[in-house]
Amino acid sequence: MVLQELGGKISSALQQMTNATTVNQKVFDKCLNDIARALLQNDVQVEIVGDLQSNIKRIVNLDGRAEGHNKRKIIQQAVFSELCKMLDPGKPSFTPKKNEPSVVMFVGLQGSGKTTTCTKYAHYYQNKGWKPALVCADTFRAGAFDQLKQNATKANIPFYGSHTESDPVNVAVEGVETFKRENRNLIIIDTSGRHVQEKALFEEMLQLREATKPDLVIFVMDSSIGQAAFKQAQAFKQSVDVGAVIVTKMDGHAKGGGALSAVAATKSPVIFIGTGEHINEFEDFNVKPFVSRLLGIRDLSGFINQVKEVVQVDEQELMQKLLEQNFTMRIMYELFQKILEGSFNQVLSMLMPKEHENESQVKIRRYLTMMDSMTNEELGSTDLKLMKESRIMRIARGAGRQVSEVFEMFQEYKRLTISVSKMKKMVNTRHTDEFTS
Ligand code: GDP
Repeated sequence: MVLQELGGKISSALQQMTNATTVNQKVFDKCLNDIARALLQNDVQVEIVGDLQSNIKRIVNLDGRAEGHNKRKIIQQAVFSELCKMLDPGKPSFTPKKNEPSVVMFVGLQGSGKTTTCTKYAHYYQNKGWKPALVCADTFRAGAFDQLKQNATKANIPFYGSHTESDPVNVAVEGVETFKRENRNLIIIDTSGRHVQEKALFEEMLQLREATKPDLVIFVMDSSIGQAAFKQAQAFKQSVDVGAVIVTKMDGHAKGGGALSAVAATKSPVIFIGTGEHINEFEDFNVKPFVSRLLGIRDLSGFINQVKEVVQVDEQELMQKLLEQNFTMRIMYELFQKILEGSFNQVLSMLMPKEHENESQVKIRRYLTMMDSMTNEELGSTDLKLMKESRIMRIARGAGRQVSEVFEMFQEYKRLTISVSKMKKMVNTRHTDEFTS
């Protein structure tokens, strides 16, 4: 799979940083340099790598971080989010509607997989209940119409083209009008790709766009073209307003980093990827799951999605513990510390019952002192029944408190255990909804 090697190198750089005894500037710099080298070796454009590096540095801001912050996590998340940013222009693409005809024009160089992808795209929407139709506006390449006709016939999709008409604009306009009359709600125009970025190609694209007024122009890009991808994508973007990108041949063995650069150059979202020659080898593209897969992270994107609106980067580790681990006294200790720092209040108000919000700071400090007198084993346990009376008295004495106050803390722990398990259920339900809706 394209980009597998790149993904492997980035995760190995992150792993080395995670395994280091302490994360200092030297370890961080090495990690960043390894990531940058991996990107460059995989044909990602040098400016993009530079931007990515300086953005990660700015987010991580190692010098400005107080001790105790989980630097490993902060670095991992900064790398993750910057890779996502590189692929995500932050604006959604136009999606065809069923109740009115949409015109979608495909552009890209010859051999990029344009004709194949037009049919895949039509087939994808046909399966979802649209009534697509294909128009061959490539009058330049002999055999272009026959290829489209053959693909369309196999997929049972109506097509339009001409062996005699030499003006692509005439063919496109006639094709669009014909299919509008026939109430087709998704009309796809395949355009000429030619060999190189010649002026005539771009002029023709502009004329076609002018005449057919497409709702969306899709740029089809071959993932194996390496460094050249960036300039190509930029040229297409500059001459015709590319609204979305489809990257093809993602099943190949090419490096694929050029494709990432090109996506950044078009500032348009990737909507699908082609993963083979067959009509069904076509996948929806979503940035976060893709980057997660690339880095071998399975659940991070889902997790970040859940909590990103309310949790600061340095709070996410605790949040993850709350969601994924058994709620121990030690986790309650960390939670109380965060509450005292004032940094967990938003999460708390979202997830915990109201009464805990008002837990007084004095009480929380008292609980922390008592927990300081507990052993590691006691803090790691979830079963209060294991606490012997003699230990409870020792804890109270060690903290200079009454035994009744230790019991009060245990009550608090029980209440929080219930709240946290409710919260887990809530998040899991939302998680399932997110994937099934
Ligand atoms: P066009 O000149 O841009 O219209 O490109 P074509 O659609 O003719 O495709 C060129 C070649 O790439 C053909 O052999 C296709 O079968 C192949 N192709 C297109 N998309 C993919 C893909 O996602 N994976 C693979 N392996 N081959 C593809």
